[in-house]
This record gives sequence, C-alpha cells and structure tokens, in this order.
Amino acid sequence: MASSPVRFRDPGKKPYAFLVDAVLVRCPGCGGQARIARLASETYWWSPRRLTCVGCGLSRLNHGRVLSFSGRAAEPVDPWFGLPLWLSARTRHGHVWAYNREHLALVRQFVQATLRERAAWYDTDVKMTAVARLPRWMVKAGNCDEILRALGRAAAAC
Ligand SMILES: [Zn+2]
Repeated sequence: MASSPVRFRDPGKKPYAFLVDAVLVRCPGCGGQARIARLASETYWWSPRRLTCVGCGLSRLNHGRVLSFSGRAAEPVDPWFGLPLWLSARTRHGHVWAYNREHLALVRQFVQATLRERAAWYDTDVKMTAVARLPRWMVKAGNCDEILRALGRAAAAC
C-alpha cells in the first residue's frame, strides 16, 4: 500500500510575521544564545528592539532601524543588530536558518512534506509568503534528508 503524501499547506504568513516574536541570535558578548524582543507596547516588526543575554547580562537597544534582511548573505543575521542567527546550520547548498522556533517548525514542515500547496494570493493578500520565498534547493526532494539533518542540528542548539 502506498503511503499517503505528507501534505503541507502554506499558512500564508509574510516573512516579516516571524520578526514580531523574539528572534534568537548569538550573543556578541559571550557567544551564547541571546534574544531580540520588541518592547512590550509595540506590535510591529519595525518597532524598537532590545537585545538581551541572560548568560552575560548584555543589553542593547535598537530604535527600530533595520540594517538588512537575511536571505542571500554568507551568514544569516538578524535585521537590527546584524548578529548571526542562533537557529542556523550550513548545508552543501547554503544555510538553513530561522528567526525563532516557530519559524524553524514551519521550515521543517515544509521540507518534510511531499505534497505542497501554495497559499492562494486571494487568501493571504501576499504573493510572496515566508514559505514561497524559500530557496529552490530546499524544495528538491533529493536534498530533503540533508536539510532535515541541518534543521535538527539548529533545533538541538535551542
Ligand atoms: Zn552573552
């Protein structure tokens, strides 16, 4: 009996939606896991952010100025402080990375799926969702195991 396909339906989240939650980065002070979180009263991804590390007590504020977005950089970094993302692992094809655990879970579900359904633009009002923007090499079935191993390495660091 053929196994049924693992279905993935693009939830239609914009890439920036994951930036509303805390982003995990490598602390510039101690090399441990630090968090970049928006200030309590703010709700947008471009809002001011505070970088904090419980390991060494480092704390920095960014008033919402965005440096750059990850995607094609040699090493994926956060948009505000330019620090390396904590949830990142290298593969032969490029880096797999995520801003936080929710984002990582979505990428993992996407890579594992054998049947992928795109979000309809009329459902989401966005043509390029976080999932639609993933690089093509992530979609190739032959790369699946390698990417999942890399995602597993990234998740284990949490
Ligand atoms: Zn630190």
